[in-house]
Amino acid sequence: MYKDYDDVDEGMSHGDERDLDDMLNNEDDDGYEKYCYMCRRPESQVGKLINMPNNISVCRSCMQKTFDSFSSMNLGSMGKMDIDLSQLLSMLPKDMMPRSQRVKKKKKAEKKEEEKLTLKNIPAPHKLKAQLDAYVIGQERAKKAVCVAVYNHYKRVLSDEADEVEIEKSNMLMLGPTGSGKTYIVKTIAKMLNVPLAITDATTLTEAGYIGDDVESVLSKLLAAADNDVERAEHGIVFIDEIDKIAKKKETRSRDVSGESVQQGLLKLLEGAEIEVPVGAGSKNAMVPLETINTKNILFICGGAFPDLEDIIKRRLTKTSAIGFKAELKDKYDDEDVLSKVSVEDLREYGMIPEFLGRLPVMFTLSKLDEEMLIAILREPKNAILKQYKKLLALDEVDLQFDDSALRAIAKKALEKETGARALRAIIEDFMLDIMYEVPKDDNIGSVIITGDYVEGKGSPIIKMRGVD
Ligand code: ADP
Repeated sequence: MYKDYDDVDEGMSHGDERDLDDMLNNEDDDGYEKYCYMCRRPESQVGKLINMPNNISVCRSCMQKTFDSFSSMNLGSMGKMDIDLSQLLSMLPKDMMPRSQRVKKKKKAEKKEEEKLTLKNIPAPHKLKAQLDAYVIGQERAKKAVCVAVYNHYKRVLSDEADEVEIEKSNMLMLGPTGSGKTYIVKTIAKMLNVPLAITDATTLTEAGYIGDDVESVLSKLLAAADNDVERAEHGIVFIDEIDKIAKKKETRSRDVSGESVQQGLLKLLEGAEIEVPVGAGSKNAMVPLETINTKNILFICGGAFPDLEDIIKRRLTKTSAIGFKAELKDKYDDEDVLSKVSVEDLREYGMIPEFLGRLPVMFTLSKLDEEMLIAILREPKNAILKQYKKLLALDEVDLQFDDSALRAIAKKALEKETGARALRAIIEDFMLDIMYEVPKDDNIGSVIITGDYVEGKGSPIIKMRGVD
């Protein structure tokens, strides 16, 4: 015999001091037997019950049913049972829990002990350059200049000895056409040194209070790149691209909020100052927490294509040459890498203010990529685009080859686009689409050779079947 649940209730309301829990669980005490809350069968009939909070016991088969329904229906409908299902789950013996509901604890991702940059382990410029060479093609002078500047910068930061000879900051200004590798060099070097890097675009910056990002947003990005670790951020690198877009506007009557004012705003950052930085947002407002970052040890690298700067340089060069041969001399510079002859005066004429230029003591240029360099970029770097495609098809056991005419055709097409190496991927993606779609259809295809004609849309690739030479 077991006592009905109603009787138990009644008993309680009549002033019985005994706890319901005692009544259900200690049958020895009161002679009552425990019963299943769901099917209402006694323990003697269903076997040992599972005790749960709120004085509830459930038999194993009801528990199992509950879990089976867990997986097939929504949990909301279980609410009427007055059972805390999460507790129910936790009470379930392990061997009863359906396998699909047992989640193995994730092993905590072992945080790799990141090697910190110290005076001892910072690689010498020639070693840095050797590593850079594996990724960046050509641009020898620029790579050298970056490596030396970065090496000196971190030596200065890490030695932090305050004696009379204070080494100045080696912020940089990189000039070079679009797609010539400016961003790529900076990215690669930051990765090599394992320092946080923020890449921003100067065009988005405006004077504080105007629509656009304040200059401090640059540091917010760096802080985010350093996982909000202020100390790490203070040893990071900031790359500001399109710096030519904040040149002083000529003949403007209104306030130059996105040009000269931004240059003014950046001065403090470049030099080194304690700056209040909004965490995780572009501008300061009441809702955003602030962190103070000292920019003394942050390396700033500015990059820009400076279109039309060549004309300014040419004009200066011809002016200083003998009078009377101007036209001839102007032509003389046409084929040369005029940009490499840039001087601070040219940049001032372009619209960069002297204070700004003064804070970027290391200045160098990157040359326009020619056909040979583009071909080298296609196949030589460690993660060259062609290697990537080869690997993709190799997973389908197909050998992908590009013949020389194909490489030349791709490079030629890229040159026409005038976006440097950036055009390469788009061109390859375009003609590889069909191949990537068709080849996996046929298991018999053993190799695909891309030809110049195919790249130019005049022919088809050479396809060889397996086992046929
Ligand atoms: P920008 O000079 O406009 O900053 P990027 O550095 O962003 O150009 O170059 C775009 C892409 O082109 C890079 O991601 C890289 O893959 C490729 N690239 C450009 N220049 C080189 C180079 N000299 N060597 C290897 N790859 C390059």
